[in-house]
Amino acid sequence: MIRVGVLGALGQMGREVGKAVHEDPETVLVAAIDSQASGEVLSLGDGPNSSIKVSEEIDALSQAEVDVAVDFTHPSAVMDNIRWCVRHAVDVVVGTTGLKPGDYDEIRALIEEEGSESNVFIAPNFAIGAVLMMRFAAQAARFFPVVEIIELHHDRKADAPSGTALRTAHEIAVARGEAPKRVVESTEAVEGVRGGEVEGIRIHSVRLPGLVAHQEVLLGGPGQSLTIRHDSYDRSSFMPGVMLAVKQINRNPGLTVGLENLLDF
Ligand code: NAP
Repeated sequence: MIRVGVLGALGQMGREVGKAVHEDPETVLVAAIDSQASGEVLSLGDGPNSSIKVSEEIDALSQAEVDVAVDFTHPSAVMDNIRWCVRHAVDVVVGTTGLKPGDYDEIRALIEEEGSESNVFIAPNFAIGAVLMMRFAAQAARFFPVVEIIELHHDRKADAPSGTALRTAHEIAVARGEAPKRVVESTEAVEGVRGGEVEGIRIHSVRLPGLVAHQEVLLGGPGQSLTIRHDSYDRSSFMPGVMLAVKQINRNPGLTVGLENLLDF
């Protein structure tokens, strides 16, 4: 049985992770941590042992002898949580977005410094459909001179652009090996109206109540276009990927980035 602790347990994703861990016969939820906690008991469903007291302190992971921590917190908190897990030899699966490229180097160095006793698995998107969307976009981008990304999320999302959009832009840039064709730049009468540029690719971020996580990659060539779109309508879409990472993290030493590393493509 894998002993799991959830960081951000009272958040939208954390609550879903708590239930998924509770329902899986190979895992047990032994710690729930959230900065909003003030003695709450988190309900995980029906049946015996189906609630857990939420703690405010990350030390609850040690007290509960957690094997794997799962972090769905906030961009401002995630690096401190990863540092704590690596220093305390706890494997950590990270779904929180907003990490910067330099953070990966710091995590690798820290794992080595601490004797490689902890593994870190980070995925900007745990939905299988989103991983396929990124893969198909990277394949298609080699055949289309112009690419733009539109990502759409709920209005409480803390970071923009999304981690998925950043990752998609990076994978497209790697697959092409050269900067995409520049379209004639129109004068921006309104600042930012053409989106932001990442690795030569325009990204447009939309925030609306009612959305969960959605992305379109638009590819254009002479006389034709191709649109690749993925929609997460419900946070349950992320759970199979999260649970796969929880079960396989100890087979992936050091830092691993991207769910595609656990899938047999
Ligand atoms: P949310 O509803 O705001 O939940 C985050 C929770 O974490 C909140 O209760 C928050 O409390 C708490 N928190 C903040 N800092 C903490 C800390 N240091 N220790 C413990 N708990 C802390 O957000 P969400 O929608 O669940 O999303 C969480 C993250 O997951 C975001 O970065 C989002 O982009 C990402 N996400 C990733 C995927 C993926 O597939 N990788 C999918 C969906 C979402 P406060 O409100 O007090 O800050």
